[in-house]
Amino acid sequence: MKDKEQIIIEGDAHFSTSIKTPLRADAFDKSDDEKIKNIQHHFKMIMEEIGLDLTDDSLSGTPYRVAKMYVKELFYGLNPVNKPKLSTFDNKYSYQKMLVEQNINIDSACEHHFLPIVGQAHVAYIPKDKVIGLSKINRLVDYYARRPQVQERLVLQILNDLQMVLDTQDVIVMVTAKHLCVSSRGIKDQSSFTTTLEYGGCFSETEIRNEFLKIVSD
Ligand SMILES: [Zn+2]
Repeated sequence: MKDKEQIIIEGDAHFSTSIKTPLRADAFDKSDDEKIKNIQHHFKMIMEEIGLDLTDDSLSGTPYRVAKMYVKELFYGLNPVNKPKLSTFDNKYSYQKMLVEQNINIDSACEHHFLPIVGQAHVAYIPKDKVIGLSKINRLVDYYARRPQVQERLVLQILNDLQMVLDTQDVIVMVTAKHLCVSSRGIKDQSSFTTTLEYGGCFSETEIRNEFLKIVSD
C-alpha cells in the first residue's frame, strides 16, 4: 500500500500508466443492473459517512441516481459492448485532402479525482481508400471520454482506433479541456486548461500540422 502523501502527489501529477484503461479481468461479469444496485449501496454508505441524513426526501434517491448515472451515462464508455460501430465507406470521390471534425463535445472525468473534465476535441484525417461517417467520429470521442480518464490517454485511444479503421496513419487528435480537479480543488486555478495533441503519418510534417491548427484555432 502506498503512503497517503504519495497517493495525493501522484493524483495531482495526473500521470497515466498505459494507453489501455486499466480494467479488471471480471469488469463486465456483472450486469448493469447488478452494478447499479451495488454502487447504490456503497454510495449510500459514503453519504452517511460524511454525515448526511438519508431519510430526508431530497437525499433518499441520490444513491440510486448516482449509481445509474455512473453506469449508464458518465462511465458507459468502459464497456466494449457500448462501442460505436465504426463502419467505413469506399472513398469514391477520391477526396485526398484534410477532413476536419471540430468542436466535438468532451464530457469526461478525471480518473484520479472522479471530477469532470469538460472541453472539446478536434479530429482530422487525410483519407486513403476509406472514409468514415462524420457522426461516427463524434460517437467514438464520446465513447472514450465516458470513462475515468487521463487526457493524454484519451487522445491516444481515439487516434489509434481511427488509424486502424481508416487504414491510414494520417490522423490527428487534439483535445482542449478544463479539469475541475485543477480549477475547484488543489491549486484552484480557474483559468487554466489543458491541451493534448497526438498524430501520426503526414501530420508529423509541420506544414500539414499547422494547416490543421489554423483551421481549429479560427
Ligand atoms: Zn484529477
